[in-house]
Amino acid sequence: MSSVRDFFNIDSALSEEERAIRDTIRRWVDDRVLPIIGDCYVQGRFPKELIPEMAELGVFGANLPEEYGCAGLNNVSYGLIMQELERGDSGVRSFASVQGALVMYPIFAFGSEDQKRAWLPKMAKGEVIGCFGLTEPDFGSNPGGMRTTARADGGGYVLNGAKAWITNGSIADVAVVWAKLDGVIRGFLVERGTPGFSTFEHKGKMSLRASVTSQLAFEDCRIPAENILPGVQGLRGPLSCLTQARYGISWGALGSAMATYQAALDYSKSRKQWRDRPIASHQLVQERLAWMVTEITKGQLLAWKLATMKDAGTMKPHHVSMAKRNNVWVARECAKLARETLGANGIVNEYPVFRHLANIESVYTYEGTHDIHTLVIGEAVTGIAAYNPPME
Ligand SMILES: Cc1cc2nc3c(=O)[nH]c(=O)nc-3n(C[C@H](O)[C@H](O)[C@H](O)COP(=O)(O)OP(=O)(O)OC[C@H]3O[C@@H](n4cnc5c(N)ncnc54)[C@H](O)[C@@H]3O)c2cc1C
Repeated sequence: MSSVRDFFNIDSALSEEERAIRDTIRRWVDDRVLPIIGDCYVQGRFPKELIPEMAELGVFGANLPEEYGCAGLNNVSYGLIMQELERGDSGVRSFASVQGALVMYPIFAFGSEDQKRAWLPKMAKGEVIGCFGLTEPDFGSNPGGMRTTARADGGGYVLNGAKAWITNGSIADVAVVWAKLDGVIRGFLVERGTPGFSTFEHKGKMSLRASVTSQLAFEDCRIPAENILPGVQGLRGPLSCLTQARYGISWGALGSAMATYQAALDYSKSRKQWRDRPIASHQLVQERLAWMVTEITKGQLLAWKLATMKDAGTMKPHHVSMAKRNNVWVARECAKLARETLGANGIVNEYPVFRHLANIESVYTYEGTHDIHTLVIGEAVTGIAAYNPPME
């Protein structure tokens, strides 16, 4: 089993159950994801065949209650699952994040009892795949500007507009779509095959290639009245879903960093240059490894503390912003340092490093860019929101 050094013995802070869950997912990723993911990446193919196995492992909506068919785990266990999935590939973790945090969570938090009973058990089993439509071609960091509209009509709603960069879009059975109804953002469940709803895959991605990313289009798309999420209005709806997903990403990014660190460590101990000595014997190489393991350890402590706050109900969005911003940045830097350490081998698919390096660029941008999380933290410490400064 591949592993990364647990430099501060953070394992000792985990319960036996948490460690067992982490190790189960770790073994599954080693056995089932790592052998195929390099080829999937080159082919630009999401490994859909793994969905039933992920469902069997209880990955989807793992921190949601058992009464809706979910695993009912605490947030440490959930975070460790995200970490291990992303140690495999950011695309695999993205699939699970979208399914659980961006589709099952809003149905659980804002849906009617009928919606919860209809969708959550099937989604936990992986029988129904979901996507989350918030971003539009002209509105990314500022989703409140969205142009997609819903209009009440004859006992239902009619949607018009477009969404862009939607993970799982073309393979989803149901889309959680955020649209303005009388100027107020509301969530709608749009089922695949509804007339007026179409999807188009984004082509030419150089990052997150083992993941499906699509545009969604709505042209006079009529959905029944019972497909609105009744429990939330305004930007708070999508933002609270993003908080859930960003929480998982702050753990997931550590998995990416662990993968590239482990690759750099293994390689530097086996690659020999200069009088037949491993490159790990050079101080400059050790400096990189020391930086990586130090930052991963700090990130692990941040993620673990965040998890305990989430379980205790004291986690705020700005805490999540700090962890997402820091841990994704650490993963991005680790991928670069690992790539340097592998020399020419750093650019080939035989090693996981370049795949992670390319993937992490998407993770750096989605779920709130690094800049936006900087501004969230800035607002928390100054009390001044700097996203949209007044024009002279
Ligand atoms: C692979 C992938 C999968 C995705 N999956 C989904 C999904 O499932 N669902 C979904 O809804 N969206 C998804 N997204 C979209 C993602 O959330 C957006 O790309 C992201 O919010 C950034 O929006 P943008 O790309 O329009 O960039 P922009 O908002 O145009 O930003 C461009 C640059 O300007 C900076 N910037 C913007 N505003 C400010 C500011 N106020 N101050 C300082 N700098 C600023 C940004 O930080 C960035 O560097 C995905 C994106 C990718 C790449």
